[in-house]
Amino acid sequence: MNEYDSNRIYDLVKKINYKKTNNIHEADCYVLNTCHIREKATDKVYHDIGRVKKVFKNKNKPIIIITGCVAQAEGEVLLEKEKYIDAVIGPQSYQNLNETILKLEKRIIKVNSTNFDVIDKFDNLNSIKNSNNKISSFLTIQEGCDKFCKFCVVPYTRGSEYSRSIKELIRESIDLVENGAKEITLLGQNVNAYNFGGKKLSHLINEISKIDKLERIRYTTSHPIDFSEDLIHAHLEFDKLMPMIHLPVQSGSNKILRSMNRKHTVENYLDLIDKLKKNKPSIKFSSDFIIGFPGENDIDFQETLELLKKVEFINTFSFIFSPRPGTPAASMKKIDLDIAKERLITFQTVAQDIKMNYRKNLFNKKSSVLFENAIGKKMNYFGRDEYLNSVIVRSDENLIGKTKEVKIIDGNQNTLFGELTQNKICKGFAA
Ligand code: SAM
Ligand code: SF4
Repeated sequence: MNEYDSNRIYDLVKKINYKKTNNIHEADCYVLNTCHIREKATDKVYHDIGRVKKVFKNKNKPIIIITGCVAQAEGEVLLEKEKYIDAVIGPQSYQNLNETILKLEKRIIKVNSTNFDVIDKFDNLNSIKNSNNKISSFLTIQEGCDKFCKFCVVPYTRGSEYSRSIKELIRESIDLVENGAKEITLLGQNVNAYNFGGKKLSHLINEISKIDKLERIRYTTSHPIDFSEDLIHAHLEFDKLMPMIHLPVQSGSNKILRSMNRKHTVENYLDLIDKLKKNKPSIKFSSDFIIGFPGENDIDFQETLELLKKVEFINTFSFIFSPRPGTPAASMKKIDLDIAKERLITFQTVAQDIKMNYRKNLFNKKSSVLFENAIGKKMNYFGRDEYLNSVIVRSDENLIGKTKEVKIIDGNQNTLFGELTQNKICKGFAA
């Protein structure tokens, strides 16, 4: 979501004649767009500012603005502690960015803009064309969260659930496709909680899938309790919807899920996976796990490993519990850090084995790859298959923006290597 936000920030500042530079020595204004989901986020801000200070040691200081969730959560402290920062702007206040920069050009004041004004934000952004021109583009459709998992800062930094209008989203999708997008990933902290005047995510997918040159649709991140029947069926109905679902579960222990306030059990989760697979057998899953949540004992951890093996996630994101200031879990009794680290290593070893076995099974099989960019000078092209696996292929033909059938010949944890087949791609083709 921060990548989407950063792109929209570029679109916004163009209106006051600012443009992006890759030369850090010549920037007049730095916008550090931050994430607060795990610890060290604030340290990173101070570290990045230290780098800017070095660059501008004997020169006039540039304008420094901190945006994103660190600004929302710790804005006042940042302004107080680091005098080099000129403004903090929370994720629901980007509409105030240009006005802030113009004020700061005149060195008027320090600015703290951290109100939750999500309607005003999108009203403002909707009037500015999305100029992102990536083959695979992000589109924020929903923001915020009302679920209040005990470990998570999102409800406090992004505010409560808000869904953008279908009309705005179709228009922005058309803009993205006209800019060259072949794939759109619909984004939301709880993307499947999307609800605009009773129209749900499946309705939006239906509408967006009518855009002719758009080939692929994805959505992330889903919450298990918001997975309604219509969304399950959407995976059968719409060819353009990719058969890969990111479905965070966090833990395989009902005791821990309860204590996290996740609102689902392991059984609910497995039933949902079962339903999705019965509906479309080629579907696969990735997930997020928090290891070492307060109260997690060996039995809870073993249950998490069992769940991991049972579902055979083709990708996982796992982190040790990170106490976030202001969340209920921050005041819960932590487990021993060494035990948590040991469990994380065990978890990631098992997860990698599952992933590698899955990947080895892809060797000598064909998959459908949408190519996004060239890499190096040797006519290598990077793309992704339907399951988001990175694939590299060598070709004399320019493959950017094309979807091709590829035979996978080799691979490692991160990348698959393949060669083009002579076949034309057929719809609904799964590895
Ligand atoms: N809304 C999604 C859901 O509930 O499934 C997840 C969105 S959250 C922004 C992304 C991931 O960050 C979570 O799935 C969780 O695994 C991880 N996360 C959030 N807070 C965390 C914390 N305090 N410590 C460790 N990981 C955390
Ligand atoms: Fe955070 Fe997701 Fe829980 Fe919301 S549902 S509080 S975003 S982890």
